[in-house]
Amino acid sequence: MNIHEYQAKEILKKFGLPILNGKSYEKNLDLLEIELNDLKGPPWVVKSQIHAGGRGAGYFKNSFNDKGGVQVIFEKDQVNKIASSMMGNVLVTKQTGEIGKTVNRIFIEEGCEIEREFYLSLLVDRNTSKIMMMISAAGGMDIEEVAATNPEKIINIHFNDIKNVTLDHNLQSTLEINQHQFDELNTITNKLLSVFSSIDASTIEINPLVLNKQGSFVLLDAKISLDDNALFRHPNLQELKDLTEEDPLELQAAEHDMNYVKLDGSIGCMVNGAGLAMATMDIIKQFGEEPANFLDLGGTANKDRVIMGFKTIQSDPNVKSILINIFGGIIHCDMIANGIVEAVKELNFKLPLVVRFQGTNASQGRDVINNSSLGLISIDDFTEAAKKVVELSKE
Ligand code: GDP
Ligand code: MN
Repeated sequence: MNIHEYQAKEILKKFGLPILNGKSYEKNLDLLEIELNDLKGPPWVVKSQIHAGGRGAGYFKNSFNDKGGVQVIFEKDQVNKIASSMMGNVLVTKQTGEIGKTVNRIFIEEGCEIEREFYLSLLVDRNTSKIMMMISAAGGMDIEEVAATNPEKIINIHFNDIKNVTLDHNLQSTLEINQHQFDELNTITNKLLSVFSSIDASTIEINPLVLNKQGSFVLLDAKISLDDNALFRHPNLQELKDLTEEDPLELQAAEHDMNYVKLDGSIGCMVNGAGLAMATMDIIKQFGEEPANFLDLGGTANKDRVIMGFKTIQSDPNVKSILINIFGGIIHCDMIANGIVEAVKELNFKLPLVVRFQGTNASQGRDVINNSSLGLISIDDFTEAAKKVVELSKE
C-alpha cells in the first residue's frame, strides 16, 4: 500500500526527521488563506498529492496551470490560486501514463533554499534478506535514469543490524559532505531505519534529500510503501489508504476475496490457484499475446465467484478473448461449468471464451460447456487452449 507524501512526512516528523512545516488539504481549500499564516515564507511550495512521482516535471490536463504538479510560489496571494488550479484536475507525469491522475489532495509547505540534492532510499534487498540503503549525490532528478546511465553514482549499503548504525566514513568524501553533515546523515539513517522497521515499510524513498543554504539536511520529498502483509499490525496506517488511488476493479475483487491484478494485455484469464494463474499468463505470452489480468478465483470458486470474475474482466475494454483454466480438486469442474454457463447467459457475455478443465469431474464439465449452445469452446490440452484463445483475440 502506498501513502501520500504528506502522510509519509507526518510519520517521519514524529520520528524526529528534518521535515519542513506544511498543511494538507482534501478537496476543500477554504482554510488555506488563514492557515498560510502559520507557515514561514516566502517561498511556499504547492504540492499535488498523488501516488506517482515526477509531479514537478508533470503537466495538467484542462487547467490554466502550465507549470506542473509541484510549484515554488513567492507571492502569498498566488498560493491559493495555484492550489486551486491543481485541485480536482488531472496531472500527467512520467509515472501516471497518458491518462494521468486526479489531484484530490494538496500539500502546502514552507519553502527551502536548496544547495544540493541527494537521493536516498531504503528497501528490502531480497537477495540478501537485508535492509539496503541506496544513496546518491545525483538526487532530485530521475533516479532510474541515473541507474541506467551512471550506476556507479548510486551507492548500495546493506545493514546487518538496524540499531546504532554507523556509516562507512568513505561515504563522506564520496558524497562530498563535511563532517557535520556526515554526522547528520548518520542520525537520519538511524531514524529512517527505525521508521522502516516500526511501520513495516517495504520502501522509503527520499528524493530529493537536500542540503539547504544553512548546510543542513532536509527531507524535501518522501514516498513510503507499506508491506501489505504486515498491514494488519497497523490499523492506524490502514486508515491512510486513499481509495481514489486504488484500481476500482481490484478493490471490487478484493471485497469478494478474489485476487485480481489488472494488466495491459488483451486476454482475460480466469483461473483457480495462483500457481496455475501464473502458468496461464506465461503460456499466453509464449504465443505472443499479453494477459489482460491476473485473476485467481481462489480455492472455493463457485458460481457467484465466476459471475464476479466475468464482471471484473468485462469491465476492462482491452479484453478481446478469455481463457478459463480450472483445476478441479475440492471444487468440481462440472459445478464451475454450470456456473460459467449461467454467468454467460445472465451477463449476456459475448466475448470468445475458451475453457479448459482438468481434475475432478473434468469430463462432465466439458459436456456442460459443449452442450450449452452458447458457442463456448472447451479444450483439454493447456497448450492448445492457449493457442486458441490467442487466435480468437485477433479476430
Ligand atoms: P516529484 O517531482 O514528484 O518527485 O516531487 P518533489 O517533491 O521531489 O518536487 C520536485 C522538485 O521540486 C524537487 O526536486 C525540488 O527541486 C523542487 N522543490 C520541492 N520542494 C521545494 C522547496 O521547498 N524549495 C525549492 N526551491 N524547491 C523545491
Ligand atoms: Mn521527488
